Amino acid sequence: MTTITIAKGDGIGPEIMNATLDILKAAGAQIAFEEIEIGEKVYLQGNNAGIAPEAWESLRKNKVFLKAPITTPQGGGFKSLNVTTRKVLGLYANVRPCISYHPFVQTKHPVMDVVIIRENEEDLYAGIEHRQTDEVYQCLKLISRPGTEKIIRYAFEYARVYQRKKVTCFTKDNIMKLTDGLFHKVFDEIGAEYPDIEKEHWIVDIGAAKLADTPEMFDVIVMPNLYGDILSDVAAQITGSVGLAGSANIGDGFAMFEAIHGSAPRLAGQNAANPSGLILAAIQLLVHIGQADVAEKIQNAWLKTLEDGFHTKDIYKEGVSAKKLGTREFGEAVIERLGQKPSQLKPVTFNPAVGGFQIKPKNHPPATKELIGVDIFLQANERNPDLLAEAIQKAGNPGNISLQMITNRGTKVWPNGFPETFCTDHWRCRFKKEQKELTYQAIIDQMQLLQNAGLDIIKSENLYNFDGEAGYTAAQGQ
Ligand code: NAD
Repeated sequence: MTTITIAKGDGIGPEIMNATLDILKAAGAQIAFEEIEIGEKVYLQGNNAGIAPEAWESLRKNKVFLKAPITTPQGGGFKSLNVTTRKVLGLYANVRPCISYHPFVQTKHPVMDVVIIRENEEDLYAGIEHRQTDEVYQCLKLISRPGTEKIIRYAFEYARVYQRKKVTCFTKDNIMKLTDGLFHKVFDEIGAEYPDIEKEHWIVDIGAAKLADTPEMFDVIVMPNLYGDILSDVAAQITGSVGLAGSANIGDGFAMFEAIHGSAPRLAGQNAANPSGLILAAIQLLVHIGQADVAEKIQNAWLKTLEDGFHTKDIYKEGVSAKKLGTREFGEAVIERLGQKPSQLKPVTFNPAVGGFQIKPKNHPPATKELIGVDIFLQANERNPDLLAEAIQKAGNPGNISLQMITNRGTKVWPNGFPETFCTDHWRCRFKKEQKELTYQAIIDQMQLLQNAGLDIIKSENLYNFDGEAGYTAAQGQ
């Protein structure tokens, strides 16, 4: 018997959770349930994370969480419960199977069976943002080697145990050469350890277009957080209904399972919601805790229910569906079919060995790091790069360091800039060392000279070589 934590959430949450729990019990899942309170009520009691402090104890103890959707109250100051849970509990992998159930659920893509594996903790979601000048705001995109190794290895392990044939990686490494470049590089490195699995990489824009147009060419797709956030919704939508997708958030010692839709407040209390997203999330949970046989039994009964035309209102279609059912009745129809298999849709089989696999990043010896310069960012309202360069040079330098170039939003504007380049008030001034070893003190001295000359420093970024390889990008432009 495994004890899990559940939360019934808001809106349609309690109805779809009750239907799901009834199915789990009827199918013989060896699960005990411990309920916690999350969502609107908790937010409105003044807890801005939407979860009471004592609920964390249940989550920490049980390590497996089945969560119904919640309503985030309107207005500012409320933190996303999902983002908090993912970060606090280290749920680095978001796994979202997106499958078409043609001809029983209308879809433009009858042949679609894609699993999106999204990195869940890094990228622009670190939420580190700054306003730097009157005109320019910044959001930091952080991609780490251990974070990337974990998600890429997870994708390959997932493909192997779920008997998938191909893993595709989406990045934008033609533009973000270091961050997305690392993601692509690690994909190639780790992919080489899985010769049995086909590998491919697409630049995210054309990859996304292909996914929306010909999803049948994809199998498992792994991607950084932001692309995964957007494209997992696109993929779920084009299967025919977002109401039919569940997702898993997986960490080293903890996992959370939920439907991908929200709390649909307007449908609440009407016994009209489709519980399928949460049922499929519960099936992922069963596989995770090693009850693959029960998972298989429920999913095949659920497929048979769809196939028999017993549909909730959101997917009901005259001529295809046999009967329109409420939330509760749909759950009962699944229970009646436990032990049966679909005849047209493909029955599922889950590998009992799947469970929750552990992924460990490799230890890499630290690189030899050499300080070779600094990018000093200035606010200057005068839009003339030549004058700015002159002012910087007039400020003086401490020796062994000199101004190499100035860029504006990444485009080189000095030396030899184009007068046509549009400039904001935000300038990056790159200084590089000359002959001798560069000390951090020289950088501080350079900044002091700039400040003495009345220049407005907003931040600096050191330039390093790692084992002789540049840890920074060149400027864009001519
Ligand atoms: P939503 O997913 O709740 O609803 C979007 C549309 O889909 C609505 O028309 C709704 O009726 C329909 N729908 C959703 N689930 C359905 C189901 N199971 N069966 C039938 N129809 C269904 O998205 P929203 O309206 O943007 O958000 C409503 C609330 O949900 C907001 O407070 C939002 O913050 C919250 N939300 C929570 C989660 C979560 O807890 N994981 C996720 C998304 C949104």
